[in-house]
Amino acid sequence: LIQLYMPLNILGFAYREIKQGLTDTEEMFALLGEPQEVADAPDAVPLAAGPGELVFEDVRFGYRPDREILKGVSFRVPPGRTLAIVGPTGAGKSTISRLLFRFYDATSGQIMVDGQPVRTVTQDSLRAAIGVVPQDTVLFNDTIRYNIAYGRPGATDAEVVRAATLAQVHDFVLRLPDGYRTMVGERGLKLSGGEKQRVAIARTILKDPRILILDEATSALDTRTEQEIQAALRQISAERTTLVIAHRLSTVVDADEIIVLQDGRIAERGDHSALIARDGLYAEMWRRQSEAVAMAEAAAAAQAAA
Ligand code: ATP
Repeated sequence: LIQLYMPLNILGFAYREIKQGLTDTEEMFALLGEPQEVADAPDAVPLAAGPGELVFEDVRFGYRPDREILKGVSFRVPPGRTLAIVGPTGAGKSTISRLLFRFYDATSGQIMVDGQPVRTVTQDSLRAAIGVVPQDTVLFNDTIRYNIAYGRPGATDAEVVRAATLAQVHDFVLRLPDGYRTMVGERGLKLSGGEKQRVAIARTILKDPRILILDEATSALDTRTEQEIQAALRQISAERTTLVIAHRLSTVVDADEIIVLQDGRIAERGDHSALIARDGLYAEMWRRQSEAVAMAEAAAAAQAAA
């Protein structure tokens, strides 16, 4: 029986590994909505260890030769710091994260992680060094524990609980009928957008990447969910190089640097107070969003009073 069991066990392990690899890649492509077009260089080497410095140097890129999307973008995120990218829809914000992942190669310029051009390293090692908290997380039809631990296969129960706690999702899990063994996903318990996002944060805490991309949700969340997610994001981005693709401005206030992308160029850069003082594009976006938030709050208050 042992003879029969062993190979099956190995097969099961292999299956999980393969499923893991596939879903990981699928999820990244799904979240960035892109096919894989770039191959490793023949002499590609694994990304060497480093503190997580990220550099874009005069990066130009277009999905098609006749339409340039990024027209010379340069920035440096020192290890552990946070850069937020804001700007109108279609400005090229998500394109920056796709190039960092090397779903595409820049037409010219250089993208470097810890001094190593992304073109020269293996994509596996590059993607292992980058964690993403996407706008919409894919959950597998498996237990909530599996969905969290998938950030680091082989994580212990204590590690899973610690990550879930930091991601502000542990108490929620304890209230589920079977706790961490509750089945979730399409065929199990369906989680809300905010719950799924916190599962993604817990996953990423376990993955422990040196660079983090937060692709902020476009959809508005209720204030309490928003606050819980903000608290979880603060945990995960503290002391970790972070790129925030911001669709709303509420998360960027504390960023070390904000770049305002407009039509593929950096129109303004600085921290929140510097950009407000400048009274340009960012200040205008901030005013408009603050007004929209105030109006939504007033409407909610009126509804509650009625
Ligand atoms: P949003 O805030 O709406 O998410 P964004 O600033 O993130 O916008 P990008 O997704 O980077 O914008 O897109 C920049 C431009 O590139 C857009 O005009 C978009 O239509 C175009 N684009 C994006 N992906 C592709 C693609 N795969 N092929 C061709 N054009 C694309």
